[in-house]
Amino acid sequence: MDLGITGKRALVCAASKGLGLGCARALAEAGCDLVMNARGAEALEAAAETIRTDFGVEVVTVAADISTEAGRAALLDAAGPVDILVNNAGGPPPGMWTDWTREDFIAALDANMLAPIAMITALVPGMMERGWGRVVNITSQAVKAPIPVLGLSNSARAGLTGYVAGTARQVAGDGVTINNLLPGIHATDRATSLDQGVSEAEGITMDEARERRCATIPAGRYGTPEEFGAACAFLCSRHAGFMVGQNILLDGGAVNATL
Ligand code: NAP
Repeated sequence: MDLGITGKRALVCAASKGLGLGCARALAEAGCDLVMNARGAEALEAAAETIRTDFGVEVVTVAADISTEAGRAALLDAAGPVDILVNNAGGPPPGMWTDWTREDFIAALDANMLAPIAMITALVPGMMERGWGRVVNITSQAVKAPIPVLGLSNSARAGLTGYVAGTARQVAGDGVTINNLLPGIHATDRATSLDQGVSEAEGITMDEARERRCATIPAGRYGTPEEFGAACAFLCSRHAGFMVGQNILLDGGAVNATL
């Protein structure tokens, strides 16, 4: 399928690895020029170079922390106007509801709620003026079904989801869609570190931790960054212009719900 976005300029936050990289690669495959971000410059540049080689698109890299104002300013300065924004950042650490402090919540809100809101506020007005734009926020299945050890994520992502529900409907008339992609477990470094936590807490091997998790997923496996990226590219395509303010779950059926 021709996604109809060849030549569009896409900014993908937190994109040197994992789901962000999956989105960047799928958008590049669809013909988008990219601005890619992550904190670590080396992995970011390596990922960008592979994309340039594989897809022949232009890729600008900006090593910066998306959860800080200075990081976002550097990224926005280098990016200029963009047609597509994919919001992403690392997820908060697991823990117990009894342990989280105000500072822990502020860090989670900064990374997973206020950073995407700041990027939307900075970039969507230009998209509206030009009459076309796409925003995809990478959130979590925790929005639909809370994950007990990820209360910081449950909280911050719920805040972003509420903001998107209201804002998406105020910008759709100007050709800009904002939607959320909700990953269930995907085979990335994040999944490895979550499985590591289970392995240590339960005294089981990593393989056992993975098998235990797979048994809770009707698809019987972890998702891949490629599958995730393809869904993101579709949401950014010209075919998805009537999809507004939606929360799309990619979880192999793990959330047991009718709607
Ligand atoms: P990942 O494999 O750990 O990759 C995270 C990427 O984000 C890396 O490129 C990392 O590079 C970058 N990054 C992290 N913090 C950043 C920051 N403050 N500023 C800029 N870049 C940053 O993680 P993932 O699995 O792709 O997860 C992406 C998001 O989806 C996370 O919020 C995660 O909680 C959520 N999620 C993932 C899963 C899953 O199963 N994988 C499930 C549900 C939700 P640097 O470290 O160099 O910055």
